[in-house]
Amino acid sequence: TVVWLGVGLEMVLELFFSGFTTGILVLIIGVSVFTKVRDFFYHKANQYFFSSLYDVREVIEEASEKLALALEPEKLYNSICDVLQKPFQVSAIGVLIFDEKKKKYEVKINRGFNIGNKKYFKGSLNLKKKYTSKGELLIIEELIDKTRGESKKLIQMLDELGVKVVAPLNVEGDTIGLIVLGKKESGDNFNTDDFTVLNVIGQQAAISVKNSMLYEETLEFNKKLQEGIKQATKKLQKANIKLKKLDATKTEFLSIASHQLRTPLTSIKGFSSLLLNNGYGKLNDKQRKTIEKIFISNERLITLVEDLLNISRMEQGRLEYEFEKLNIKELLKEIVGVLSIQASHKDLYLKFKDEIKEQKEVLIKADKKKLTEVISNLIDNAVKYTQQGGIIVKLSRKNKNTILIEVIDTGIGIDPKEKDKIFEKFGRGDDIEAMHSGGAGLGLFIVKKLTEAHGGKVFVESEGKGKGTTFGLELPVASS
Ligand code: ADP
Repeated sequence: TVVWLGVGLEMVLELFFSGFTTGILVLIIGVSVFTKVRDFFYHKANQYFFSSLYDVREVIEEASEKLALALEPEKLYNSICDVLQKPFQVSAIGVLIFDEKKKKYEVKINRGFNIGNKKYFKGSLNLKKKYTSKGELLIIEELIDKTRGESKKLIQMLDELGVKVVAPLNVEGDTIGLIVLGKKESGDNFNTDDFTVLNVIGQQAAISVKNSMLYEETLEFNKKLQEGIKQATKKLQKANIKLKKLDATKTEFLSIASHQLRTPLTSIKGFSSLLLNNGYGKLNDKQRKTIEKIFISNERLITLVEDLLNISRMEQGRLEYEFEKLNIKELLKEIVGVLSIQASHKDLYLKFKDEIKEQKEVLIKADKKKLTEVISNLIDNAVKYTQQGGIIVKLSRKNKNTILIEVIDTGIGIDPKEKDKIFEKFGRGDDIEAMHSGGAGLGLFIVKKLTEAHGGKVFVESEGKGKGTTFGLELPVASS
């Protein structure tokens, strides 16, 4: 038994030792090949998972759709990276855009390159001339041996950063930027399909980048424009407030001044008329003529003050109207009667012509005092600006609801260019000043405002200088 045991032990030991040696051997071999095997499997796995097998057409189609849609720069740079990263499965990708002012490439997006906070990269004119401006891709590995000097430094730097391929973004032969790509996760080199895709997508991306730059410029311009408008509006608003204040001050001044003027003017009128009526004894011719001049000038001043007061009341909304139904025929006859004395002083005729004979009464709704002022003013002017002939005041019907009053004179006429101006505040004919200094250009302004307050309108017609003038008033008839 002992012998058998001894033999058995010997066999076990022998077996054990021979197995151990084999184990060690296997272990040594295993360890030595493990890294290679691991690398092999890693490589295979990467090839499997990040296979560069993709449909070129599909990738290009998807890219052009995405790139065409992105207008905002940030979105666009992200889209460029997305559309290229998916098929190539690169470890890093980025877009650099040439900054014209700084003469450097600015990093617009960086996914995976270890560049820290670096924002700008110097370009190389040589590389641009030789490759990128022609639209050629830069394959770093190939260029390292080909380039010299300044360009070489750049290529080396790109190589150190892990850049494998650079695709230029060209618009009309000019490189506006670069797409830089790192190695493929699969470890494969870039193949011809990749280069095709890069070329096509690069071209599309370039157009989209240019568009987005224009879009940004437009936005910037819009912003500036809006800012400008805002500033201008602010200034205008300020100026407007100032003007309103000034206008209010002016109106207030006019109102106070006119009130203050009224009292002394009234007493001048009273005393001069008393003098003219021999209230202080009989006047000789010289005295009479002088006091008559005082009286007439004073009358003119009174009219001016009245006009100013009326305007300031109108502008403050304080002019009150007392509307009543009145027969316009009667009113016109009355006014013509009063003013014909004035016309006859100048040897002018003043006639009323009624063209609504079929009706005894033509009723309109009006403030009698103010409408009298309007019509008197037009006749006054006609007398003032007519030297020969005379004035006809004509009443007719324009249509069922409107009557027309015309003041037709044979006077100096009006230049068509001045037709609008004369209805403005202080608006006078260009050479009227020389002929008639006694006017302020307020009469027609008041006429216009008062007529409008009656729901009517005033207009002027004239064939031109020296050919007479017709002022027309359209007024609504009163509803019965
Ligand atoms: P004023 O007569 O005080 O100047 P108005 O406002 O009454 O002011 O008239 C404005 C201007 O219109 C006058 O200066 C004159 O040039 C022109 N005008 C008014 N009426 C006539 C008219 N009948 N014929 C010619 N021009 C007229």
